[in-house]
Amino acid sequence: MTGVVEIAGVLRHHRPRGAGVALVLDSPHSGESYPADFDHAPPRAQVRQAEDTHVARLWRHAPAVGATLIEALFPRAYLDANRSLADIDPALLSDRWPEPIAPTRKTAQGIGLVWRLARDGSQMYARKLSAAELRARIDRYWHPYHAAVGAALDAAHRAHGAVWHLNCHSMPAVGDARSDDPGRERADFVLGDRDGTSCDPRFTAFVAAALRARGFSVACNDPYKGVELVRRHGRPGEARHSLQIEIKRTLYMDEATLEPNAGYARLERELARLLEAIAGFVADACARR
Ligand SMILES: [Zn+2]
Repeated sequence: MTGVVEIAGVLRHHRPRGAGVALVLDSPHSGESYPADFDHAPPRAQVRQAEDTHVARLWRHAPAVGATLIEALFPRAYLDANRSLADIDPALLSDRWPEPIAPTRKTAQGIGLVWRLARDGSQMYARKLSAAELRARIDRYWHPYHAAVGAALDAAHRAHGAVWHLNCHSMPAVGDARSDDPGRERADFVLGDRDGTSCDPRFTAFVAAALRARGFSVACNDPYKGVELVRRHGRPGEARHSLQIEIKRTLYMDEATLEPNAGYARLERELARLLEAIAGFVADACARR
């Protein structure tokens, strides 16, 4: 089966063209479809600074190399698909959350499962959210997204005996006040394998080398190691390899306006070549199994 399957406002699932390879990409943060009940206090332009704008479009050649691409359509600030369901900030809610919570450092920074603060530090809401509202967001968006990514990985693993997962993001060019590297200029790409635990380190090394060969600078696990999606799905002992890949936003867009810049077309071409190389790596690895 080929083509695109969409759950309106939630996700788009791009199926591989031709014979599929054991490669699945997901883009959890590039959604631009703002739900009607997202009554954020700051201006939309400020809220949109949370997005990894354009990332799913930049990787759109994935189906042409036989990979699956799943993209979230809902905005990250509304519900962050790369956070765990326990990463809930009680300060957001007007009533008690009925399940165990385990707020992380991200929640303390205002950027947990539901963002309490916009990128500029201003309050996201002028009110508290009800537990029922949060439950509805999780049921409508988080669960279907995770189910789609999990099902695509399982299907590839069943078909090929192994699967490689690229969890696709973009990052500000310079760390902001709430990042782990405030004021520091980032590399062009940051690969995160949770310090060598979410995929075979040879996969990370292959992607890093392929990017460097194309003239890009690459850092690994600094400042981003990978969060919920690679943590959940990366189990190299079971031949399930998850790697987070962060692209520096200034390579392809104006960070203030979110408009593509002069580098966009080149980056898209380079990612298409990178996808061909990764598909080759994956096919070779499957053939050796
Ligand atoms: Zn992201």
